[in-house]
Amino acid sequence: MDTFDPIEAMARARHEFGEHGGVNMSIEASTTFTVMHAEVMPEIFQGRRGPDSGGCYLYGRHFNPTVYALGHQLAAMEGAEAGYCTASGMGAIAAVVTQLCNHGDHVVVSDTIYGGSYALFHDYLPAKSGIRPDFVDVRDPAAVEQAFTADTRLLYIEAIANPTLKVADIRRLAEIAHRHGAQLVVDNTFSPLLLSPILLGADVIVHSLTKFISGASDIVGGAVLGRTAFVQQLMDLHMGSLMLLGPTMDPNQAFAISLRLPHLGLRMREHGRRALAFAERMHALGLPVIYPGLPDHPDHALLDAQRNPDYGYGGLLCIDLATRARAETFMELLQNRYGFGFMAVSLGYFETLMSCSGASTSSELSDADQHRAGISPGLVRMSVGLTGSLEQRWAQLCAALGDVGLPAG
Ligand code: PLP
Repeated sequence: MDTFDPIEAMARARHEFGEHGGVNMSIEASTTFTVMHAEVMPEIFQGRRGPDSGGCYLYGRHFNPTVYALGHQLAAMEGAEAGYCTASGMGAIAAVVTQLCNHGDHVVVSDTIYGGSYALFHDYLPAKSGIRPDFVDVRDPAAVEQAFTADTRLLYIEAIANPTLKVADIRRLAEIAHRHGAQLVVDNTFSPLLLSPILLGADVIVHSLTKFISGASDIVGGAVLGRTAFVQQLMDLHMGSLMLLGPTMDPNQAFAISLRLPHLGLRMREHGRRALAFAERMHALGLPVIYPGLPDHPDHALLDAQRNPDYGYGGLLCIDLATRARAETFMELLQNRYGFGFMAVSLGYFETLMSCSGASTSSELSDADQHRAGISPGLVRMSVGLTGSLEQRWAQLCAALGDVGLPAG
C-alpha cells in the first residue's frame, strides 16, 4: 500500500493506440460490430466470450471499445481488476446497488452522503424495489456492526463524505462488511488519487466523473471499478444492470475524459495545495473552517493513515457560517462583488464552486437528518479552483470575510 502511486499505475497500464497508430486512442462510434464467424455470436450472447476472452465487441449498449479503454485506465488508477463507465455517477451507483441486491434485501448506508444518493437509498429504491436501507454514522463502528442483518448485501459509504468531509475508516468498514458476508461499496468522487479504497479492502468503487476527473464542468459521467467477474456481471444479457437499465457512456465522452486523466495528478495537487493554504489561514484567524488536512480535524490522523502521500488532502473545504442567510450573503459577495468563484453546485471544476449544502445538494435529507449528519444550515461547501493566483484569491476571500463581519487576514 505504501508504494502504490495511482498515476504510476495508470502509466503502467496498457496504452491504447489510435486506429492509425495515433498517440491518442480512437473513438469507436459504431453501435454494432461485425462478427467474423457465425458460431461466435451465440457464445457472446451466453456471456462465454467477451472482448478480452476470445470474442469481440457486440453492440453499443454492451461494451464499447473506447469506453472499455477508459474503464481500464480508471481501474489501473484505483488498483482494481476491471472497470467500466456510465452516463453519470448516479447511473454507476444505481447499477451497482441493483446488481448486488435483489428485491427485499437490506443495505447499510452512511448517513452522510450526496443528497441524490441519499434519495436513491431512502426514497426511490424502497418504493421501487423493496430494498431496505438503514442509515448509520460510519465513524461509529458499533453502530455499523449493529445495523447488519442476515439479509444485508452491502455497506455503502463515501470515502470523504459530501458535504461534511468526514473520513471513513475503509479498512475497518471492509472488515465489518466482509464478516457479515456483505460487500463494501465506496464512492470515491471527492478523493480520486488521494485514496485508493480497493487497496484498503473495498469491493467496488463508484465515481462521478462529472467532478474532479473530468475537471471542466462540461461532461456528465460515472464509473464502476472492481473485480472482473463483477464488471462482466453488470453486462450480463439476462441480469446485468448496465446492459438492461442502459446507463451507457457515449464513446465521445469517454475519449474526452481520457485526455484529462494525464493531468489529473497535477490538478489534484493544486486543488489540494490551495484548499490547505486557505484552510490553514482561516484556521489561524479563528474561523470555523472544516478541512481534513488540518492537524486538529478529528479525522486528520485517519486520513494520513490511509492516503497516498503525494496528492494532498483534497480540494474541498467547508466554512460553517451558522445561518443560511449569512452563508448566502457571503457567497453572493464572493461571486458578485469579488469574482472569487461561482455560486453553483458540483465540484472539481477549475474555478471555485460554492454552495450552501443544506439548501442544495443535501436538501434531500430532512432537517432532522441533516442535523444528525452534522450539516449546519450555514455550511458553505467550497470546491477550491485552480485559476488566478493563490494570493489573488486569498485577498478576495478575505474581503468577503470582512464584509460579513468575520476576521480577515
Ligand atoms: N457522488 C457524489 C459524492 C456526488 O457529489 C455526486 C453529484 O454531486 C454524485 C455521486 C452523482 O454524480 P452525477 O451527477 O455524475 O450523477
